[in-house]
Amino acid sequence: MFEPEVVKKDFPILQREIGGEKIVYLDSGATSQKPKAVIEAVSNYYETSNANVHRGAHTLGDESTELLKESRQRVAEFVGGRAEEVVFVRNTTEAINLVAYAWGLDNLQEGDVVISTEMEHHSNLVPWQEVARRTGAKVELVRVTKDGLLDQDDYKEKLKLKPKLVALVHVSNALGTINPVDVMSKQARRIGAKVILDGAQAVPHCAVDVDALNCDFYAFSGHKMLGPMGIGVLWGRKELLSKMSPFLSGGGMISEVNKDHSRWIDVPEKFEAGTPNVAGAVGLAAAIEYLCGVSPIGMFGVREHDYEVTQYALEKLKQLKCVRVLGPDNPEIRTGSVSFVYAGVHAHDVATVLDSVGVMVRSGHHCTMVLHDKLGVSASIRASFNVYTTKEDIDRLIAGLEQVKATFGK
Ligand code: PMP
Repeated sequence: MFEPEVVKKDFPILQREIGGEKIVYLDSGATSQKPKAVIEAVSNYYETSNANVHRGAHTLGDESTELLKESRQRVAEFVGGRAEEVVFVRNTTEAINLVAYAWGLDNLQEGDVVISTEMEHHSNLVPWQEVARRTGAKVELVRVTKDGLLDQDDYKEKLKLKPKLVALVHVSNALGTINPVDVMSKQARRIGAKVILDGAQAVPHCAVDVDALNCDFYAFSGHKMLGPMGIGVLWGRKELLSKMSPFLSGGGMISEVNKDHSRWIDVPEKFEAGTPNVAGAVGLAAAIEYLCGVSPIGMFGVREHDYEVTQYALEKLKQLKCVRVLGPDNPEIRTGSVSFVYAGVHAHDVATVLDSVGVMVRSGHHCTMVLHDKLGVSASIRASFNVYTTKEDIDRLIAGLEQVKATFGK
């Protein structure tokens, strides 16, 4: 049985009170809170095993190296890949930039096409614009329909341009839409394109299997899935990673350095120049352990809970006349968040009133300016969830919106 009220007790920060009331944290899409198990794993690492990695240096160095290796293995199992295909980076943004620069600069040239979408987070759009600017490639964006879905007819048309790369968001951070990326990846790879998926908002809520998704690269952040900040993952197919030039170079990624040239070690360390974030990797492994153990059916239970909360939030928000929900109506194809606009009141003002009653949401464009332009709104309010989100949290959101009405008379 999944009981979010019980799960919540594992998160020390969620026990905080403001104005005599427990806080309601509905900003998990920006970053999730951390369970005690993750906080303890990180502090335990620093208390007992901290040392720079390098087997054979000394006992602590060996332990630290072993912990990094174990964490990599745990991450690989979590996404259905192999350990040598898991590159540790700082976050999703860095993972995508790694592919943009290490793969893009060597493989794109004048006139080549990269397909992205109007729904992308800036992290999966701006790096492609930047690499296109340097190489002379063009970025084409797949349209978003008025229901908040990727227009599949437009995608098929754009595939006729024979793109070299397709960059897609798995779950939209602004609309909550779960995109059919498995099918879209298959279509793209069939015509020879490489596919990178932005999994930042998918991994906290759904079971992910990179093989089933048919992609070449999959990027995500630890901090949105109960792990620490400063650790993220790029999963990539080994045959591709092996052929790519390094993104960053220096210590930790070389096999040989001469006065005028150097050689690299194999993947994944080839892409991990400098001292790695071992504590972050250990914390991420602990987060995976926690997330997968929170329900007897693992990530399927996590998804079920998320579905219930999303459905409840959609139902309640739709009863408010002044609220327009963005994104698909059907909770089957959405996860993690619900964004909305409040008629006649700016999103920032709504968020400020909600904050005054202890309800924390995000307001703005959520790093999706192209999408907001398309939807004809400059800003929206986003309530986003994780395993500790309860229906009572949603009730507090709705009560907070009544307060907005009382404040602005709308
Ligand atoms: N992609 C999506 C879909 C996101 O939601 C985010 C975070 N808001 C990112 C990428 C960037 O993640 P990070 O800031 O951890 O690099």
